[in-house]
Amino acid sequence: MFNEVKNNLKIRQVVEFYGVKLSNNKAFCPFHNEKNKSFSISDSKQIFRCHTCSDKAGDLISFVSRLYNLKPIDACKKLNEDFLLGLSGKLTKAQKLKSKRQATIMLKAKKDYEAKRQEYFDLYSMFGEFDKICIENKPNKGDEVNNLWIVANELREYYWDKILGLELI
Ligand SMILES: [Zn+2]
Repeated sequence: MFNEVKNNLKIRQVVEFYGVKLSNNKAFCPFHNEKNKSFSISDSKQIFRCHTCSDKAGDLISFVSRLYNLKPIDACKKLNEDFLLGLSGKLTKAQKLKSKRQATIMLKAKKDYEAKRQEYFDLYSMFGEFDKICIENKPNKGDEVNNLWIVANELREYYWDKILGLELI
C-alpha cells in the first residue's frame, strides 16, 4: 500500500492539503513555532525537510505520520481516505486465489518430495543390505558361484533401479 499511496500523490499536494502554505517551496514549519521559514519541499526528490528540527525529513507518508503522530501504515490509510484514493490495501480476489493455488502446489511438492525421500531411505537401506551380502559372498576366481550371491546381486540391482527411478539422485 505504501508504494500505491506514494505513486498516487505528490509531496506538494499533501503538505498543502494539511495546511502548510508554500511559497517558493518554503513554508513555516508545522512541527515547531518559528519566525523564519525553515520548512521546504523538493518536487524532484518528493521529500520534505525542516532545517531547524533536523529529524523532520522524509516522504509524504512520514510527513503525515509525524504531523498526526501515526504509524506509517495508519498515515497511509489516512491519506487513502482523505484523498479518496480508493486503495484497499488488500489483495484482489484474483491475487488471493493465485497465491492460494501457489501455496497448494508448493505444499504438495514438498509432501511429494518428503515421501520420495522417505522411500529413498527405505530403498537405500534395502540396497545396502543386499550389497553387503553380495560383498560377503562374492565368489573368488575359480570358485563355484553360490546361489546366495546370485539372488543378492539381483535384489541389489532391483533396489538400485528403484532408487534411480525416484529421480532424486
Ligand atoms: Zn521544524
